[in-house]
Amino acid sequence: MMKTIKDLDITGKRVFIRCDFNVPIDSDGNITDDRRIRAALPTIRYCIDHECKIILASHYGRPEAGKYEEKYSLSSVHIRLQTLLKLAANINIANDVVGEDAKAKAASLKAGDVLLLENLRYEAGETENDDTFAKELASFGDVYINDAFGACHRKHASIYAMTKEFDTEHKAAGFLMNKEVNFFQKVIEEPVRPFVAIVGGSKVSGKLKALTNLIKKVDKIIIGGGMAFTFLKAQGYEIGNSLVENDLLDDARAIMYKAKKAGVKFYLPVDLVVAPEFSENTETKYLPSQEIPAGWMGLDIGPASSRLFREVINDAQTIIWNGPMGVYEMDKFSKGSIKMSHNIADTHATTIVGGGDTADVAQKAGDVDEMTFVSTGGGASLELIEGKVLPGLEALAYQE
Ligand code: AMP
Repeated sequence: MMKTIKDLDITGKRVFIRCDFNVPIDSDGNITDDRRIRAALPTIRYCIDHECKIILASHYGRPEAGKYEEKYSLSSVHIRLQTLLKLAANINIANDVVGEDAKAKAASLKAGDVLLLENLRYEAGETENDDTFAKELASFGDVYINDAFGACHRKHASIYAMTKEFDTEHKAAGFLMNKEVNFFQKVIEEPVRPFVAIVGGSKVSGKLKALTNLIKKVDKIIIGGGMAFTFLKAQGYEIGNSLVENDLLDDARAIMYKAKKAGVKFYLPVDLVVAPEFSENTETKYLPSQEIPAGWMGLDIGPASSRLFREVINDAQTIIWNGPMGVYEMDKFSKGSIKMSHNIADTHATTIVGGGDTADVAQKAGDVDEMTFVSTGGGASLELIEGKVLPGLEALAYQE
């Protein structure tokens, strides 16, 4: 069981809300998709309406711990929050996480005011799940709210260690978190079949376990993006300079073997968009997966793969999609991901899009409204579907 913010008495209290403001930005530092910020607003507004003193905290990217690098600052998130909340609140940002500035600004909050702490990962204690750091964070709030579904699969101080400082009357899930968990629970408990998982993105390593466990749940798996090359190489293909994780070739073979044994259909790209270099201004060729020239790399799936994958999902009743099919950030290599998005949106299945990049693709493709559910959590949603207990949920759980 997990309490939600509505189950707690928060009126007038100091409320610490762990948010997930890890939004994608372009090379000029502009936020390209503010879905995660907008998704946090219902909880923040609820706290404003209950005259709370609100502390918001989030990680952002992967700064080196202990270093306050400007490019990882939450300042652009602060500005977007001000725009979105307009005059509903007085929103300030601290220059540090648990330092003097944060403490002074927190102490001067009035009812309905909001203070955004700087990037939690500026402090080493966050990723180390450090108790001392967690206690410092906890000292900011009488009540702890976790609305960071996208970070719940990480045992970090603001997600896990910190919750020990609050009893069950003083910690709960925010509205976003509650919505996400309820949705995925339904999919896990009774997926309508055929159930298809479409997994892309750059790294097999990050999704290896998820893939292994997904085999037990789904009827078909489609692999695209950079991670496809580890599988193609594992099958003996020449992959040129494409992204590959050579130490995972055996794991890739094991996954394909398990899928075969379990009767799960497993699909890899049959053709690719290849280029001699990782650049928008490079020459490209459309070639079958067997024909990647030496020295070239695959940066998107080709049109035949898009058609094949459309056929594969044609009879699907439930589809989860996590990870782009190519380097979608560059127009030249974005077609495979955009087509995948259109094809998913065109099905009559329950469609679940997970992960910041994938939501960004669906947004670029103009398909967001056609999807059943766009989750703010990528890794977290995959792990939940695989049946894992997420540290962030475990931390809020209580026995009735
Ligand atoms: P992930 O964080 O693992 O979900 O990966 C997302 C990233 O994968 C995106 O930034 C894509 O640009 C990248 N990506 C997708 N396909 C490829 C590819 N074929 N080669 C290199 N990177 C890729």
